[in-house]
Amino acid sequence: MTPLPVGSVIGILGDGQLGRMLASEAARLGFDVVVFGQDEDSPARRVASHSIVAEYTDRDALAELSVRCDLITLEFENVPVEALQILEDMGATVCPGQTSLKICQDRHLEKSFSREAGVMTADYHVVNSVDDAVVAFEALGGNGILKTRRDGYDGHGQRRLKPEDSPVQAFEDLREAPCVFEALVPFAGEMSVIVARRADGEMATFEPAENIHKNGILHISRAPSRYAEETKQAAIGAAKKLAEALGHVGVMACEFFVLESGEILLNEIAPRVHNSGHWTPEACITGQFEQHIRAIAGWPLGSTDRLMDVEMENLLGDDVMTAYGSAGPGDMITLYGKREMRAGRKMGHIVKRL
Ligand code: ATP
Ligand code: MG
Repeated sequence: MTPLPVGSVIGILGDGQLGRMLASEAARLGFDVVVFGQDEDSPARRVASHSIVAEYTDRDALAELSVRCDLITLEFENVPVEALQILEDMGATVCPGQTSLKICQDRHLEKSFSREAGVMTADYHVVNSVDDAVVAFEALGGNGILKTRRDGYDGHGQRRLKPEDSPVQAFEDLREAPCVFEALVPFAGEMSVIVARRADGEMATFEPAENIHKNGILHISRAPSRYAEETKQAAIGAAKKLAEALGHVGVMACEFFVLESGEILLNEIAPRVHNSGHWTPEACITGQFEQHIRAIAGWPLGSTDRLMDVEMENLLGDDVMTAYGSAGPGDMITLYGKREMRAGRKMGHIVKRL
């Protein structure tokens, strides 16, 4: 495997905060970055050396990306698989590849893939029709979450149901999009593992983080977590197994529910750097963004050793206005440069040393 030479150009599909942080780290390692996204004024675009603003399946724009870049990656899992196919047909190398993207875009494929790989998930049913919604609802005793199979994020595209609710109404509310109805997991907590994998199969994982969600949005990630060593090892093993099964190249995140018994269930896989790994750049020798660039570039993976106990807190909406004033001198702040502030929108994060 030939490492990507210093000074090469890396393309990033997607232009949000993850792209911004990836682009900055790539630049720190001596690469030039081209950001490809749809927003004229995106967070990533404003730190990249070049950017292309276009639809993800715009062939001329993809051709420009392919010509400009030595290697292309992504920061957003809802990039159409077709875009990767077009780029590959043009001779471009894209990491991660189509399998990771295709599986992780669809909650049904993701769960069935995970189960086949030997990693358990919550019980669930596929819902394609009003009739399916009723059958699934009855099968799970009316306690569960109806989620669209595709395009969900930060709790959007979900309806939490109780036995007295109407599954038909919920399905209609979600515009009858293909869904899964997932059993409500009585979890004791949540955790995630960030794993990096190179094309030759070498892997490195970060220590599992303990995650706390608020209103379906990640609020806090903490390392070390309070979970038992066996639970942490099970999560690390599962994440590696899934990365291997996907043939994933780059960083990916696996989110787990932790049951009272210490057993884990996969919630979902993000085929990219992840919010629950935002503590790693400050707390570890190598952060997740650098590790992703190393993995796709075929560079040796960096040490994931953690140097301090930390808690990462997301700054949502107008939290960002007061972050500087309320943070202590030792608190480490990252802001995403988003122009428009909306309630619940991820505007930045703060890493606090514990
Ligand atoms: P993200 O943008 O973080 O990926 P999302 O919109 O894809 O979120 P999920 O990951 O499906 O949403 O769920 C968000 C949170 O909602 C979970 O972390 C968990 O706290 C809660 N949740 C989701 N599914 C279940 C479930 N089956 N049982 C219990 N809680 C759940
Ligand atoms: Mg999700």
